[in-house]
Amino acid sequence: MRMGIDEGFSCLNCSGRACEFETGENPPQCVGGAAAALHDEVRARYAEPENRRIMKAAVVSSSKCGNLTRVQETIEFARLVGARKIGIATCTMLIGESRILGGLLEQAGFEVYGVACKVEGNHRSDLDLVLEDGVEGPVLCNPVMQARLLAEAGTDLNVVMGLCVGHDALFYKYTKAPTTTLVTKDHVTAHNACAGLYGAKTVYKKRLAETIAACRADVVASGEDA
Ligand code: SF4
Repeated sequence: MRMGIDEGFSCLNCSGRACEFETGENPPQCVGGAAAALHDEVRARYAEPENRRIMKAAVVSSSKCGNLTRVQETIEFARLVGARKIGIATCTMLIGESRILGGLLEQAGFEVYGVACKVEGNHRSDLDLVLEDGVEGPVLCNPVMQARLLAEAGTDLNVVMGLCVGHDALFYKYTKAPTTTLVTKDHVTAHNACAGLYGAKTVYKKRLAETIAACRADVVASGEDA
């Protein structure tokens, strides 16, 4: 247990109503208790100028989100946060959608610069990633370069458009400008990742169970090896 965190209980075990609606009915193990030790540190972060600007913009844009599409909310957020130049880190498969977004942002008065994931055309062998099968495979994504090039372009805010799971993790790790996500890529559900959750107990249950079983075997085995 670290910092008063109860590993056996998290917000996922709670309805979330007590903290959202201030009902005063927080569970005894409420995660808010563990937050107390970090309160001052986190408050100091919010007081930093950039973070304050982002939070203030999000206060306004998220208050309207019930009536705005995420595209509208992104444009509104960019305006409120004072961005002038917007970077788009796009998957090549979503370059058409990114072009539409770029056009809308330009119409809204922003400068736009986009970098596609396959920039540089790296292959597995370039990054010493050829697997046992020896297959060179298709051109690899290059999320660190996307982040670096957007930093070189001097973007004030970046928007992720469908980067792969994992590649997005590296982009977020190396992006210099604050980054928001417009599209989470999901080839099976037309980029509606929540559909995989909604279908978890119904139509997709069987296929999902195969993925989970294979993963569990690996995760448990690696835990035993550790
Ligand atoms: S912070 Fe407390 S009340 Fe809110 S969801 Fe987490 S456990 Fe529940």
